[in-house]
Amino acid sequence: MTDPQNTADPTSQSRGVPVPPIVISGDPASAASALNAKTVAVPEQVVEALRGACAEVVDDPSTLAEEGRDWWPLAMIWATEGRIPSRASVLVRPASQQEVIDVLRICNEHRVPVTPSAGRSGVLGASVPVFGGVQLDMCQMNGIREIDRSSMVADVLPGTFGDVYEDELRSQGLTGGHWPQSMTLSTVGGWLACRGAGQFSTRYGKIEDMVVGLDVVLADGTVVRTGGFPRAAVGPDLNQLFVGSEGTLGVITGARLKIHELPGHQRKAAYSFDSFNSGLDWLRSVIQRGAKPAVLRLYDPVESLRHFPGADGRSVAIVLDEGEPAIVDAYMSVVDSAARDSSANIEDSSVVDTWLGERNEVSALEALISRGFIVDTMEVSGRWSDLPAIADATLEALRTAPGSLAAGVHCSHSYEAGACLYFTFAAESPPEDRESRHQALWTAATGAALGAGASLSHHHGVGLNRGRFVRDALGSGLDVLDSIKSALDPNGILNPGKLGLKSSFGTFSFDQ
Ligand SMILES: Cc1cc2nc3c(=O)[nH]c(=O)nc-3n(C[C@H](O)[C@H](O)[C@H](O)COP(=O)(O)OP(=O)(O)OC[C@H]3O[C@@H](n4cnc5c(N)ncnc54)[C@H](O)[C@@H]3O)c2cc1C
Repeated sequence: MTDPQNTADPTSQSRGVPVPPIVISGDPASAASALNAKTVAVPEQVVEALRGACAEVVDDPSTLAEEGRDWWPLAMIWATEGRIPSRASVLVRPASQQEVIDVLRICNEHRVPVTPSAGRSGVLGASVPVFGGVQLDMCQMNGIREIDRSSMVADVLPGTFGDVYEDELRSQGLTGGHWPQSMTLSTVGGWLACRGAGQFSTRYGKIEDMVVGLDVVLADGTVVRTGGFPRAAVGPDLNQLFVGSEGTLGVITGARLKIHELPGHQRKAAYSFDSFNSGLDWLRSVIQRGAKPAVLRLYDPVESLRHFPGADGRSVAIVLDEGEPAIVDAYMSVVDSAARDSSANIEDSSVVDTWLGERNEVSALEALISRGFIVDTMEVSGRWSDLPAIADATLEALRTAPGSLAAGVHCSHSYEAGACLYFTFAAESPPEDRESRHQALWTAATGAALGAGASLSHHHGVGLNRGRFVRDALGSGLDVLDSIKSALDPNGILNPGKLGLKSSFGTFSFDQ
């Protein structure tokens, strides 16, 4: 499975890209763009040059309409109205790093915006080609190139879908340990570009903990190979410059990721607490006593009732660990001892099986948005000392926003210093107000969360939807990011309009 030419493995499993569940109402070819942006039409001679550089170049308006959207709930609302966020002028599907280099060189020379995209499972519009130009679909570059079993590192191409990656590793007795809920919808490149987190992250880490090295093509076609070592002291960590950059600083064309032996031993446990805050105290105690079981999640009473019928006003917590029996047993013993020191009830561990059976089930989203409701999620992180206030303030903001129907929270990923809070909310609205109500919910919830000490995002990223909050979240840090962007991409061609960065192609607006 080694491919020294850095091209896609022709034997690897390739497949069509999954699409967001809401069908674009009417004829996608004539769907109007909801983003008010001046788009760049790619001149015919540039399209010809692209055809010479890349085997697959698509200009069919229906395909471009479909490919120009992702799982951003506002884009799904627009789809019910026969609108799309925006549409590229052409879409290219490179099959090798060399094709990526050639495409970027052409676009950079002609000042054409380039928006990388992959599974399009992003939930914030990050892969939407706001200013038209070229969309760079990375899904043809897929497959595992090499496995270093001694160092436990896999060299994988960016367009490899999560389930394909994990299945291939499992066939060799290995696992990547990264289990986003969007496992079958998202790619390795998308995980890295968004700084994603899997459901088993307490043991295996977030994607930034798993990355050992990257291949990145810059806007002018220069190839950078970052990292490669277990640790190094040669200036700042360049891996981490590109992880989370959402396609704005470079295109990821290869990744070296940590892998693990397939675990032979697994244990589960479940508890319930009389309040979300007493559950948070227990989580903190588990982690700060040194136990890091793979799955460690706590649901507030609203979400507990939704996931675990019978929870009846209590906050349910689930725990699952896997790996070396001695370590798993030690972790589970710390988990249990922390629960006995708190006000926890011990629940039947079959609750964990209920969660395992339903953890990737998202059909309610499609059903509710199709029926005209607003449904969305928002994840942030904060220190343990701030988490109760972040949860209270954000829920209050969501529950008092116009049209609010429900809001709940769970704690999905924990660390020594704090944790991730993940909010789910729903609202009703007259059809003509859905866009403004959706954005009002985000404005209220984000303001409340930031005001109580939260980060802007824990693992979904910024994309389009959160761009307007980045100045509040980072302060002068945004100027640092803008400077890095200008240095690496002076013409600003890579994914303009995202991450709250300055755009070389003007502005865009929607009802916010
Ligand atoms: C049902 C559902 C559940 C989800 N659950 C989780 C979860 O548990 N954890 C989690 O972290 N996220 C989750 N997400 C969000 C989403 O799946 C992740 O953000 C994912 O990492 C995006 O990957 P993708 O391949 O779909 O990327 P896309 O959506 O296509 O792109 C996302 C961003 O990455 C950039 N990008 C993509 N490929 C490259 C590349 N090769 N080089 C440079 N930039 C690139 C794009 O430009 C864009 O900015 C979920 C989404 C859905 C719809």
